Amino acid sequence: MAKDCIGTAHAQILKDVFGYDEFRANQDDIITHTIAGKSGFVLMPTGGGKSLCYQIPAMAMDGCCIVISPLIALMQDQVLQLKELNVKAETLNSATPAEDRRRIIAQLYDGSLDLLYVSPERLLGDGFLDILDNCPINLFAIDEAHCVSQWGHDFRPEYAQLGTLATRYPNIPRLALTATADERTRKDILRVLNINEDSSFISGFDRPNIKYFVTPKNNPKKELEQFISTYHARDSGIIYCLSRKKVEQTAEWLKEQGYNALPYHAGMADGARADVQERFLKEEQIIIVATIAFGMGINKPDVRFVAHLDLPANIESYYQETGRAGRDGLPATAWMTYGMQDVALRGTMIESSNASGDQKFVEKQKLSALLGYCETLRCRRQILLNYFGDDIAPCGNCDICENPPESFDGTLAAQKALSAIYRTGQRFGVAHTVNILIGKESEQTKRFGHDKLNVWGKGKEHGQKEWQSIFRQLHALGLISVDMDNYSALKLTAEGAAFIKEKQEIALRVEKSRKAIRSEEAASMIERMLTNENDQQIFDALRSKRAELAKAQNVPPYVIFHDKTLIHMAKVKPQTPSDLSLIPGIGASKLGRYGDAFLDVIAGVA
Ligand code: ADP
Ligand code: ZN
Repeated sequence: MAKDCIGTAHAQILKDVFGYDEFRANQDDIITHTIAGKSGFVLMPTGGGKSLCYQIPAMAMDGCCIVISPLIALMQDQVLQLKELNVKAETLNSATPAEDRRRIIAQLYDGSLDLLYVSPERLLGDGFLDILDNCPINLFAIDEAHCVSQWGHDFRPEYAQLGTLATRYPNIPRLALTATADERTRKDILRVLNINEDSSFISGFDRPNIKYFVTPKNNPKKELEQFISTYHARDSGIIYCLSRKKVEQTAEWLKEQGYNALPYHAGMADGARADVQERFLKEEQIIIVATIAFGMGINKPDVRFVAHLDLPANIESYYQETGRAGRDGLPATAWMTYGMQDVALRGTMIESSNASGDQKFVEKQKLSALLGYCETLRCRRQILLNYFGDDIAPCGNCDICENPPESFDGTLAAQKALSAIYRTGQRFGVAHTVNILIGKESEQTKRFGHDKLNVWGKGKEHGQKEWQSIFRQLHALGLISVDMDNYSALKLTAEGAAFIKEKQEIALRVEKSRKAIRSEEAASMIERMLTNENDQQIFDALRSKRAELAKAQNVPPYVIFHDKTLIHMAKVKPQTPSDLSLIPGIGASKLGRYGDAFLDVIAGVA
């Protein structure tokens, strides 16, 4: 489908401006649909290439496209990248100086702008629409369109008012774009923005370049260090923790280990947070340890890993947070370590929140779905995508697929575990219950006389870690619950009680160490992709050149070229400008601006 369009005007823009040869997935159809003047809805995963779906129509048609976006940082980032491509793009927001504002509005009137990025407040406030009434507008692109819906996770009341565009400008198409929208949210977006159901372009949710990896929490710092040093020692990444204190301690500890790590949390002053964000964009090989407050509106394409040291709230947030890795399509990892304590903590957070009873019920169900993901015997990507309604075959790119767990007949172990909980009055936590099963004396076992129990030492066939894993799995299966108000005491659920009576059979996973899956010792993803030493050297030199140019212009390095483009250059070693123009990501503007500088580097090293 894409092929026979090469040669059409919009394929020409793809090549000349962006430097790409082919459209991805739905891009071509969406662009054709939009240029035909029809409104549409685009659901595409992060990194899928949504921006081109409105940027190319904006350039192909007369007049200006108004892009509505919720965050100033996102708008600025997009405009910066477009200007590098010689595209006439601007943004108007609360930070725009009056003088620039006047100039931009003049350009809007005379039709010399291709794209104008504005916040919904700016669009709907201050008589701005009266100005637009008299300007040549070719398209309204509504980015992060899930903000329209109350059901979306990021509802913004101003977005809900964007419906007015449909009535005020019935002849100007609206293109709504988002990476996250379940069925209800999707319907809301179509209704509010008055878009036809059959103008929906839906791509799957899959992010095939992200590897999912979950490991039981025994010694989290050590596990984290091992993960980073094995896979990502020289990469950029984000590490999420729940508390500010843990954020600071973890960042400090990583620094001591020699990493370029910075903390980020809501308790820091605005200026300090802005600095961290700026450094994250502009530096390479940098790690941010953050509460979930970090990440919204960050478009850094080369985040190579996202690590969770604490359990996220649910699968939606997990998918969104891990989705910040690998926007450039190169391999990336989503890694998490989790233990029973996390479950208790999350449960307490739900219980003690101000939410209604119904809402708490929903939250708890969502937490259970996440536990199911953690303790699965199936491909992790299958579980994630199933949650969003997609079916796929086992992915081959998660820890389960690469190293399938063995299962054992867990009937007897489950019986013993449940009966130990029952016999001790459902008042004790995992550690104590495990001690009883393996017959390990402690002050507490003696004090309560638990060494006299029938189950004392009856579980010696499994070690301590194995029992911990068994308890986690029983929890994920809904046979036991953790009573957060009561020292994380284990309790039998109704299903657990029935299980003891009915003696059902059950398969459990054998706990084995999930250390390094790969044997290669490469410390970064890029090194793994450039196996040849000479290519690696060229890449390093190209990267230094990029850093130098980025610094001189005070822009993030990826604004100049993405890693993907540098990798291609290092492998292909172009010698002339026309060789260089064949490398993906190099259009006319970048060829003119940077071509010679990078050709010199290649000639110097090769
Ligand atoms: P999204 O907004 O969906 O997260 P972007 O529009 O930022 O994704 O695109 C992600 C990356 O993919 C960008 O680096 C973009 O230049 C690149 N990209 C988009 N379309 C294509 C294409 N047809 N061929 C190659 N790269 C593309
Ligand atoms: Zn898999």
